[in-house]
Amino acid sequence: MKSLKQLEVAHKTVFVRVDFNVPVNNEGHIVEDARIRAALNTIEYLVQEGAKVVLASHMGRPKGQVVEKLRMRPVATRLSELIGQPVQYVEDCIGEAVEAAKVAMQPGDVLLLENVRFHEAEKKNNEEFAAELAKGIDVYVQEAFGAIHRKHATTFALPGMITEKGHGFLIGEELAALGKVKNNPEQPLVVLVGGMKVSDKVDVIRNLAPLGDCVLIGGGVANAFMKGLDVPVASSLVESDSVAEGQESIDYSQVARSIYDQFVSEESSIAVTMPDGSPLKKIVVPLDFIAAPSLDTPVGECVTVTVGENEIPEGYMFLDIGPKTRELYAQVLGHAKTVFWNGPMGVFEKAPFEAGSKDVATVIAESSAFAVLGGGDTESVVETFGLGGRYAHVSTGGGASLTFLADEELPGLDALE
Ligand code: AMP
Repeated sequence: MKSLKQLEVAHKTVFVRVDFNVPVNNEGHIVEDARIRAALNTIEYLVQEGAKVVLASHMGRPKGQVVEKLRMRPVATRLSELIGQPVQYVEDCIGEAVEAAKVAMQPGDVLLLENVRFHEAEKKNNEEFAAELAKGIDVYVQEAFGAIHRKHATTFALPGMITEKGHGFLIGEELAALGKVKNNPEQPLVVLVGGMKVSDKVDVIRNLAPLGDCVLIGGGVANAFMKGLDVPVASSLVESDSVAEGQESIDYSQVARSIYDQFVSEESSIAVTMPDGSPLKKIVVPLDFIAAPSLDTPVGECVTVTVGENEIPEGYMFLDIGPKTRELYAQVLGHAKTVFWNGPMGVFEKAPFEAGSKDVATVIAESSAFAVLGGGDTESVVETFGLGGRYAHVSTGGGASLTFLADEELPGLDALE
C-alpha cells in the first residue's frame, strides 16, 4: 500500500475520499470542525505539489436522497477559511456540472463534491456510480479513516478502478498508532473498554486480552458483564441486538460472560492486588457502581452499589463506575506503558455520572504511557474535561479503529493494495 508521498500527483487530478461527516446545526453551521482539520495536511500537501484536488465525503444519513441540511456547502466555506484559498463546491458528485468543474481545474485548485450518500449507489458499492466518480480522475487518495471499514463505492469500487492510489497522512498516523497497540505494544498494555455498544467491542476485548496485561471494563459494557455474571442490574441498560425477522437475537450478557470465563482464570502480570487481597486478573469488572432511577437524578439521590454487599434498588440503573472501581482502575493504569481506551466509563454527559470517565481520562493524560483513544465518544470525553492534546493519539474513527484492532477486514484499505 502506497502512502501519499509515494504517489505522482503534480498536475494530476486527485480524488481524495475524506471524512467530513461533521455535525451541522439547524441553521447549517458546523458545530465542530475537527474532522475537517484532520485532513488539512493531506489537502495542503496536494495543493503545494500542484495537484488538482477533488474532495468527496459523506455526511449524516440521507438514505440515498438529497437532504438540504446535509449538503456540503458549509464545509466548503469552512475549508476555504482553513486553507486560505477558494474551495469550489458543486451540488452533486457525478454528472455534467461535476465533469465541467473537473475539466476547468488548474493545478492547486480544490473542488468539493456534494454528499456522496445522496446517491443510494454509494452504500451499495455500485460499479456504474463508481465509474462516474472515476471520470477524469488520475489518482485516488484514501483519507477517510472513519469510513475504511465500509465497502462503499467511494471506499471500494472506485479505488478498484484507479491504478495510482494510496493513503493520506491522517490514515498513516492512525495505522502507526493503532498498529503499535496491536502489533508491538510496550508492556504492560492496559485496555479500557466502556460505552454502550457491546456488540462493537466484544471482538476487541477477545483480540487484545491475550496481548494485553489487563482489560478494565466500564460503562454500559459493564452492565452486560454484570448481567452475565448474575449480578442484579435492575433497569440498567444492556444492549440487545436488533435483529431482522427470522434471525436469532444475540444475548450480549451471555457473550460477555463467555469472555469473562475465558480470561478470568488468567492472572495479570501487573503488581496490583484487589481490595480483598486477591491477585489482579486479566479481565476486571467494576467492584461498585453509581446507580440512579433516571439520568436526571440529582447527585444527592444517587446511590453507590457495591457488588456482593448491597443490591441495586428496583427501577435503578448503573450509570457510572463507583469510587472503589475508580481507585482500582487508576492504580492499574498507573502501571501501564501502553493504553488503549474506547468508550466512557459512565454517562459522562451528566455531572453525577462523570467521575469514572473524568478520573480515568485524567490518570491516562498524566501518565507517560503511550495512550491511544478509540474515537467517537471517547474523544468527546476528553474534550468535555479539557484534556484534548494530552494523549499520543486520538483516533478519528471509532468503528474503524475497533475493526482494525479486532483484526477484521477493512475494505477501504484492501482496495489500495
Ligand atoms: P459507545 O458509542 O458505545 O461508546 O457509547 C457511548 C455512550 O454510552 C455515551 O453516550 C454514554 O452516555 C453511554 N453510557 C456509558 N455508560 C453507560 C451506562 N452505564 N448506562 C447507560 N449509558 C451509558
